[in-house]
Amino acid sequence: NPELARAEELIRSVPDYPEPGILFRDITPLLADAEALRVTTQALIEPFLGTFDVVAGVEARGFILAGAAAIAAGVGFVPIRKAGKLPRPAASVDYSLEYGTATIEMHDDLPAGTRILLIDDVLATGGTLAAGRHIIDRLGYSVAGISVLFEIEGLGGRELIGDLHTVFRSA
Ligand code: IMP
Repeated sequence: NPELARAEELIRSVPDYPEPGILFRDITPLLADAEALRVTTQALIEPFLGTFDVVAGVEARGFILAGAAAIAAGVGFVPIRKAGKLPRPAASVDYSLEYGTATIEMHDDLPAGTRILLIDDVLATGGTLAAGRHIIDRLGYSVAGISVLFEIEGLGGRELIGDLHTVFRSA
């Protein structure tokens, strides 16, 4: 697909950000391009169309593509937020980051059994999406699928998440 290939070229690799030795994948040039944003959003949802009731994303970067995907799929969007940002959190899950830990929270306003497509921009160690999946399970919803724009290989993300759809991956 030439449109997807063009979109992939808009992902910029930035050496030594946010720390020395890290190669940061910057998707902002892709997001800024109307056609690239459209085709990648479509590629994120396509394998799952008809199998989910809402899209969820993890704060903060996950909100961007999850929001776009929800509109493209004609469903609603549910935020999974950092601790302290939601007024009525029904569950919270702690997870490890490279340095330290983080906590995410989610509301439980959806009907039991709601099928949720979980979307994020970049998969690295998989810790963020594993925590997202965990909190969805804890609240009695069902994970219809996990879909990621860019998979960084070799950091264990795929091993941790298992069944996963990725649009692009590091060579
Ligand atoms: P993980 O939890 O280690 O898989 O890290 C993934 C989370 O960190 C995602 O929510 C990404 O938004 C962010 N992240 C990690 N590495 C990168 C990167 O190279 N570019 C953009 N975001 C990244």
